[in-house]
Amino acid sequence: MNSNGQSPLASKDEVLVRIVNLKKWFPVQKSFFEQTLSMKSLHVRAVDGVSFELHRGEVLGLAGESGSGKTTIGRLVLRLLEPTEGQIFFDGIDITHLKGEELRKLRRRMQVVFQDPFASLNPRMKIGEQIAHPHSIHLKGTESERQAAVEEIMTQVGLTPARQIFDKYPHQLSGGMRQRAVLARALVTHPDLIVADEPIAMADVSVRALLLDLMVSLQRDLNLTYLFITHDLATAKYICDRIGILYLGRLAEVGDLRQVYRTPLHPYTQALLEAVPVPDPKFRRKAPMPKGEIPNPINPPPGCRFHPRCTFAQDICSVDVPELRELRSGHSVACHFAEQFL
Ligand code: SF4
Repeated sequence: MNSNGQSPLASKDEVLVRIVNLKKWFPVQKSFFEQTLSMKSLHVRAVDGVSFELHRGEVLGLAGESGSGKTTIGRLVLRLLEPTEGQIFFDGIDITHLKGEELRKLRRRMQVVFQDPFASLNPRMKIGEQIAHPHSIHLKGTESERQAAVEEIMTQVGLTPARQIFDKYPHQLSGGMRQRAVLARALVTHPDLIVADEPIAMADVSVRALLLDLMVSLQRDLNLTYLFITHDLATAKYICDRIGILYLGRLAEVGDLRQVYRTPLHPYTQALLEAVPVPDPKFRRKAPMPKGEIPNPINPPPGCRFHPRCTFAQDICSVDVPELRELRSGHSVACHFAEQFL
């Protein structure tokens, strides 16, 4: 890692986001008894030393079980959370500690789409007004220009006829339409980056593919960059160019999606991919499923965090932390024994 935060994973493409050794530890509330005894503070190590780059125009997936730190990373990148340690660069600028007006200006360029469209829309506001709201905060223009911009983006995401849907309230729309409205609200300020946090998880199965198709075509047409957070590797396969697999707040593996899916080099990635349902009754799993539950992030295991669950673990795994090593071009893995899977 050099002084600009350039990691060995850098490619020749333009880097839009770079995070360097990012950490987010949440303090655990102490009980009255613990405070009285001045017991040591405990922390949930939600993100614990993650570095990666996101190139302009690509879709980088972050996947892992719940508690892996993927949502926290998304919020840190958006600067909705203060990092405990590390740096965040956006378009070459260190935004780690940006505040006030500078942070407000940045918000136009990075937007978020959350999992639950119903919770992220105001039930008392018309859909069109909610889509117009970020436009009025971040962009200048007359009321009629704003109205035109809102109708244009509504049409682009399939909320048609835009004029009629403008005056509807969230409860009058279907789940799929609400998620389109959330997408429109994120896109109306012409952002560079969208952090999509499980964007189709709450949608009906019947509309998931349509929403993913929409996100793919919007990304292509508007040259968007997505940080796509998901627990579902089948969904990630559909939309992502590269994938990062997280385990207990650290990156286990990162690389080109096709390469990672074809030849996963980390035992945890292998297990996750084996768990993806296959519509074939003759299919037999090859990789063993991990033993037990994901450990407590307040007191993560020493060495490789995956070692209590790993079938390939050896003595060194419970002592030495495996570094993220690039074993193939653009494909890095944090496992002492990953060479055996090449
Ligand atoms: Fe398993 Fe050891 Fe590799 Fe960790 S470092 S994934 S415990 S083999």
